[in-house]
Amino acid sequence: MSAGAPSAPDAAVRRAAELRRLIDRYNHRYYALDDPEVPDAEYDQRLRELQALEARYPALVTADSPTQRVGTSPVAAFAEVRHRRPMLSLDNAFSDEEVRDFDRRVRGRLGTVPAVAYSVEPKLDGLAVNATYEDGVYTRAATRGDGEKGEDITANLRTIRSLPLRLHTRAPPRLLEVRGEVYMPLAGFRRLNEQAAARGEKTFVNPRNAAAGALRQLDPAVSASRPLDFFVYGIGDVEGEALAERQGELLETLRRFGFRICPHTRVVASIDDCLRYFQEIGAERHRLPFQIDGVVYKVDEFALQRRLGFVARAPRWAIAHKFPAEEAMTTVRGIEFQVGRTGALTPVARLAPIHVGGVTVSNATLHNIDELHRKDVRIGDTVVVRRAGDVIPEVVAVIPERRPRGTHRVELPAVCPVCGSPVERVEGQAIARCTGGRRCPAQRKEEIKHFASRRALDIEGLGDKLVEQLVDAGLVKSPADLFTLEEARLAALDRMGEKSARKLLAAIEHAKRTTLARFLNALGIRDVGESTAAALASHFGGLDALRAADVAQIQEVPDAGPVVATSVVAYFRDRANAAVLDRLLASGIHWPKPPAVARGPLAGKVFVLTGTLEGCTREDATERIAARGGKVSGSVSKKTDYVVAGRDPGSKLDKARSLGITILDEAAFVRLLGG
Ligand code: NAD
Repeated sequence: MSAGAPSAPDAAVRRAAELRRLIDRYNHRYYALDDPEVPDAEYDQRLRELQALEARYPALVTADSPTQRVGTSPVAAFAEVRHRRPMLSLDNAFSDEEVRDFDRRVRGRLGTVPAVAYSVEPKLDGLAVNATYEDGVYTRAATRGDGEKGEDITANLRTIRSLPLRLHTRAPPRLLEVRGEVYMPLAGFRRLNEQAAARGEKTFVNPRNAAAGALRQLDPAVSASRPLDFFVYGIGDVEGEALAERQGELLETLRRFGFRICPHTRVVASIDDCLRYFQEIGAERHRLPFQIDGVVYKVDEFALQRRLGFVARAPRWAIAHKFPAEEAMTTVRGIEFQVGRTGALTPVARLAPIHVGGVTVSNATLHNIDELHRKDVRIGDTVVVRRAGDVIPEVVAVIPERRPRGTHRVELPAVCPVCGSPVERVEGQAIARCTGGRRCPAQRKEEIKHFASRRALDIEGLGDKLVEQLVDAGLVKSPADLFTLEEARLAALDRMGEKSARKLLAAIEHAKRTTLARFLNALGIRDVGESTAAALASHFGGLDALRAADVAQIQEVPDAGPVVATSVVAYFRDRANAAVLDRLLASGIHWPKPPAVARGPLAGKVFVLTGTLEGCTREDATERIAARGGKVSGSVSKKTDYVVAGRDPGSKLDKARSLGITILDEAAFVRLLGG
């Protein structure tokens, strides 16, 4: 009797064939069209299912199974390049346990090695590219393609300004293939999508697809117009002397040759250190100026890498440790319109609960009616939901292939769903608003929540739930009513009692002493956020001067353009607002006189910061400018004196150039501050 592999039952054969077809289709959409049909988590799950089936029934493995291959064949529109050495993928680990298993396998194969040193590197989310240098001169570049053959993108890669066209060395190798990731920095990605959305065009779902789409252009001029960059993480073939004995050393050599190496890359002594590194990068991930989807651990010593070798589609000496997916697929159960503080209607999708970005999500924002229509999200649709870091979950896209029959486009309601007042939409603006003002309970609640919030009057203990209770009970109709609350009526509220009522009244009393900036922020004037409120306070010094100011005078404030100025004037002219304001002042709200305008070498100078500074945080930079009498504004205008551009600056830099404003790099900025 043979003890061979079990033959696969029909159901398994059918399922494997079905999964292969599905994965092939997903691959084509992802690699050839740069337009994925489903989120990566969905793809990974299908691939894992197929891998598990094939592991159980090895007879099911076919040579053309997606588990055995890398990517897809190059598309015919590009000339084909055969790689001198195959470009492989990486195996994935989704948990610490899987990472430890990997390390055990590595050490097991190597024999008696107690601990292995690893090169640890962020896993950039872009696309893999191979660039060839002959006698130190850039001659060719290709995409990974199917790992054997890629697409010729020589002219396109050349448009990336950080790519050295000649190696910075006097003794270059005869031939050198460098490998790395072409990616789109997040600032550029957001700008590109904003521009596309403004034109009503389709946006890219993520920076990877945007980068792939931008690089794989038949017209290199289009690539040149897109914000792409290139980090190198290894080499393919090399003719001549070996460049290094270890991965860490190799990256140093490549850096000297003129390539950009991802910062945060380093060598660690053991797998425990790898896992610590994963935590560290994970905590910092959302502050990085580029998108990463995990980290890569590579056995540092090349001699050990050679002993470990490869399997079908990936090296045995490396593994990608992935972060939990930030995008997932679910269905839309309903679409509702929420009414905000200024009456703005925000469409919100009610979702079948889904685990994404480490939490369960059942609501996601659709931003505004234009976004809703551009994405054409409907009840019953299957959608991609993203939750990245602390950002509120959003619906990124609909999966059109899965739309059920009989769905309808969602229209803006004619009246407010909360108070029934007409909904108004200014021509050309994305925001639609309920016209009910304080008559609308939803707006009233949001106004009071904002008034009491931490960065406004900071009334301790007055949380969202309690505000809703106060408004629903009719005790509070405007922020001024907070100051006439009576203990007995408060104590009678559900779950309140005398002690809590007294505590709340004490907190309200305490909040009366505030600052003008906080008070202005608390009023919730449309278009006036925390920093504009602070700018208004320091410019006018007192409330009376601000109340009396006209549009032109307000525009003298660094942060205030015509939109802000008009909103401020409109707020103070409104009779109902004026009445609330007078009652607030009569209740005893007060603030110290703001300190006299700072004197210093930068007195009166207005700065705008963009990009990441290496030497200090934005808060530090702001403080240092303020300490010398200068001001920091959020946006570039004719009133800006200097734009400080750090690493990966955003559109503010372009605007500064177009207005001819002095641009300082970090070194010049530090000099200006006086070292
Ligand atoms: P991969 O992206 O998981 O890993 C390999 C790649 O990592 C390399 O080719 C390289 O480009 C990149 N990389 C980044 N930093 C690196 C570093 N420091 N060192 C080495 N490599 C580094 O594997 P893959 O085979 O390119 O693609 C699989 C991925 O693509 C999965 O995440 C999968 O979900 C996704 N995918 C999604 C769909 C979809 O429909 N959504 C379809 C196909 C693939």
